[in-house]
Amino acid sequence: MRPRSVQGSIAVIGAGVAGCACAAQLRRQGFSGPISLWEVGRGPGGRASTRRSRADEELAIDHGAPLLNITADPAPALLEPLLAGGWIAPWSGLMALLEGESKLHIGRPDMLGQGDLYVGVGGMDGLCRGLLDLAAQGEGSAISPHYRTLIRSLDVSDTGTWRLWDGTGGLLGQADWLVLSSTLLAHPRSCLLFDWPAVPMAEAAAKLADLQLDHALTTIAGIRAEARSNLLLIVPEDDALLWRALPFTLVNFDAAAQQCWGLRRISIQPLADGRCAVVAHSSDAFAADHLDVYGSRSAVARLLALPPDSGREEEVIEALSQAVLQCLAPWIDAASLERASPQLMRWGAAFPVAPGLPQALMLCPRSRVGFCGDYLAGQGFGRIEGALRSAEHLAGALLQAGLDSRT
Ligand SMILES: Cc1cc2nc3c(=O)[nH]c(=O)nc-3n(C[C@H](O)[C@H](O)[C@H](O)COP(=O)(O)OP(=O)(O)OC[C@H]3O[C@@H](n4cnc5c(N)ncnc54)[C@H](O)[C@@H]3O)c2cc1C
Repeated sequence: MRPRSVQGSIAVIGAGVAGCACAAQLRRQGFSGPISLWEVGRGPGGRASTRRSRADEELAIDHGAPLLNITADPAPALLEPLLAGGWIAPWSGLMALLEGESKLHIGRPDMLGQGDLYVGVGGMDGLCRGLLDLAAQGEGSAISPHYRTLIRSLDVSDTGTWRLWDGTGGLLGQADWLVLSSTLLAHPRSCLLFDWPAVPMAEAAAKLADLQLDHALTTIAGIRAEARSNLLLIVPEDDALLWRALPFTLVNFDAAAQQCWGLRRISIQPLADGRCAVVAHSSDAFAADHLDVYGSRSAVARLLALPPDSGREEEVIEALSQAVLQCLAPWIDAASLERASPQLMRWGAAFPVAPGLPQALMLCPRSRVGFCGDYLAGQGFGRIEGALRSAEHLAGALLQAGLDSRT
């Protein structure tokens, strides 16, 4: 396959921070060709999304990342327009660090709390909604997002176009360039998760004879990820007073505390109507021991039409609830959780483990494939900062590689 210069369309897989940021930055840099965005979730956000409910309009729970931190100068270029547009705002919560069993340091951040802290306005999904708004402001045709759509496989046609297929063999879309903002289609975990016989990108690449792409895919296949089992609690207004009065809104657990409690973080999210959402993030070790329990309301359970496994799910919910109660015992009593409706959310690949994909492999011009996301090595690796930076970097590289910014 020969590199194709001038003009082109781009299919971005994944509407998390990196996918949305890539679309926004391409438009801001003048690319006006077609961009399609493909996302299996119900809306944008990915691991920085907000759980909402049509039946309960006040409900907004940040069940993945509760904030983002920018640790180096210059900040990602998209940060300033996101702030100016009111999509994100400085984080004004109170942070604490739990050391060992019970030593609490109020005001002390951990690695995820260093630098300048920001939060999505109205929920963390404000970040991705803002990025899509920035993308829509640029010149060119509207970006077409396709939600609730799983890309099952890909290939390159005889004319050199990337084709995206669904699980029934139906053609979903075509584009000249492919951007993968998630490792899923290139990682063996997709086979474990969906019972697929082969890794989709590896199958596509086998016909392309592009050594750089092969190298990138082998590297991605070897990236390990930490998991999280997150307990979501919605505490009714009458019981929420204790939670809302806590002297912190985000507690991080150091290594000894994680071992002791099986928790990595507790995020306290007061809701506008007086209720309080509480999200307890498990430690990696706890999640690894309970990887088979997805949470009956998770996207994976919905996609795989998994039968309810309430017994196991209840066990995990109970274990995490008890840990929360015990480590917050000085402030919270069991009665304050009695009427909280608990849910479980499992993140099978919550945080990639370094070193990630080297930046030299970010763009494979011969096969017209680009990679962005928090799994790219560099500043902000494994965090939203890295997702933003990698997307901006890729957008620039794509334009340099021959996409005509004047189309
Ligand atoms: C519990 C938790 C807490 C976190 N806390 C923090 C924090 O405090 N600070 C911080 O900076 N970061 C935090 N993170 C990490 C942060 O959420 C991620 O770094 C960031 O959101 C990654 O964005 P991304 O776009 O690279 O990937 P993702 O958000 O994973 O986006 C990829 C998207 O691609 C979609 N997708 C994948 N394959 C397909 C397919 N085949 N078809 C269709 N769609 C597909 C996925 O559904 C997903 O929406 C946390 C993450 C978790 C899970």
